[in-house]
Amino acid sequence: MSKKVLVLGEAREGALRNVSFEAIAAAKTVAGDGEIVAVLLGDGVASLAEELIHYGADRVVTVEHPHLKHYTSDGYSQGFMSVYEQEKPEAIVFGHTALGKDLSPKIASKLSTGLISDVTSIEGEGDGALFIRPIYSGKAFEKVKNKDGLLFFTVRPNNITALEKDGSRTGNVTSLSVEITNLRTIIKEVVRKSTEGVDLSEAKVVIAGGRGVKSAEGFKPLQELANLLGGAVGASRGACDADYCDYSLQIGQTGKVVTPDLYIAAGISGAIQHMAGMSNSKIIVAINKDPEANIFKVADYGIVGDLFEVIPMMIEEIKQL
Ligand code: FAD
Repeated sequence: MSKKVLVLGEAREGALRNVSFEAIAAAKTVAGDGEIVAVLLGDGVASLAEELIHYGADRVVTVEHPHLKHYTSDGYSQGFMSVYEQEKPEAIVFGHTALGKDLSPKIASKLSTGLISDVTSIEGEGDGALFIRPIYSGKAFEKVKNKDGLLFFTVRPNNITALEKDGSRTGNVTSLSVEITNLRTIIKEVVRKSTEGVDLSEAKVVIAGGRGVKSAEGFKPLQELANLLGGAVGASRGACDADYCDYSLQIGQTGKVVTPDLYIAAGISGAIQHMAGMSNSKIIVAINKDPEANIFKVADYGIVGDLFEVIPMMIEEIKQL
C-alpha cells in the first residue's frame, strides 16, 4: 500500500541538519508509491526547501512565523499540526534529536496515536516494515511493527543512510500561513556557548575523554586529534562532574547519544550509563591504563596505555599522512 509520509526537516543556524535527509530515506522505505512531503518550520527557512527535494522529498510545505524562529513545543506543535490537518498523511517521521524527542510525544498525544521512537534501522518495507530500536540502555534491541492506523516514528541521527543528493530533482514548495497563538514561552535570544566545530550528535568521528583525562587542560590533545580528523570532542559524565568540560559534551544515558563511524574513548572506564550513548558506534577504540576496564568489552580496538602518551603518538602519525 502506498502512504503519504510527512517528514519534519530540521534547520539550525541557516542549514539543514543531516538527520532531515536520513528521515526522508526512512520515509521512502515505508511510503511505497506514496508521496514524501517535508515540513519546514521556522522564520526565513524557505530557501532550504529545495535541498530537501534534492534528498528525496517530493514536496515541501513551509510554515514561517517570527515565533517559530526558535523552537518551542507550543509553537512548533501548532505549526506542525496545521500542516498535518492540511495533508492528512498516513505516516510521520521526525529525527530523534533534542527537538524531535520533545515534540514527537506531544504530537503523538494530540493525534492519539502511538510513537515508535529512536529507530536505528528498518527491516522490510511498506506495511511489513519492522522498526528496530535499542532498549535497556542499548543492551538489547526490539523489533516493532506498527498496527494499522497512523504510523509515527523517530530516527536516531547517523544510523539510516540518506539518499544520494540529486540536484536535478524538482518538486513543489508551498507555504502555509498559520496563526501561532497562546505561547507559554517566547524565546527572545539563544546564546550558544560555542558555535565552532562539528555538532557532536552528527559527528562522524568522536574523541571522548573521561575522568582519566584529569583536567580541562588534559582535553587539549583530544581537541587537537578531533580537529585533525574533522570530528568532535565528547565526554563521560565523570569528566563533566569533575568540571573538566561542559555538560553539553556528555555522552550516555543522561547525555547525548552518538553513532559516529569512529569513537575513541580515552580514560573512560565504560560504565553502562556511558555505553548507552556510544555502543552503537561503528568502530570503537578504547585507550585505558587498566587492562580490565569495562570499555574494552565493547571496543573493536583496545590500547592498554597512558592516554597522554597514546594520543600525542596518534596526532604525530596522522600529521605524517
Ligand atoms: P571513571 O569510572 O573514574 O574511569 C576513569 C578511567 O580512566 C579508568 O578506567 C582509569 O583506568 C582510566 N585512566 C585513568 N588515567 C588514565 C590515563 N592516564 N590513561 C588512560 N586511562 C586512564 N556516565 C556517563 O558517562 N554518561 C551518562 O549519561 C551517565 N548517566 C548516568 C545516569 C545515572 C542515573 C547514573 C547513576 C550514572 C550515570 N553516569 C553516566 C555515570 C557513570 O555511572 C560513571 O560514573 C561515569 O561514566 C564514569 O566516568 P569515567 O569513565 O570518566 O570515570
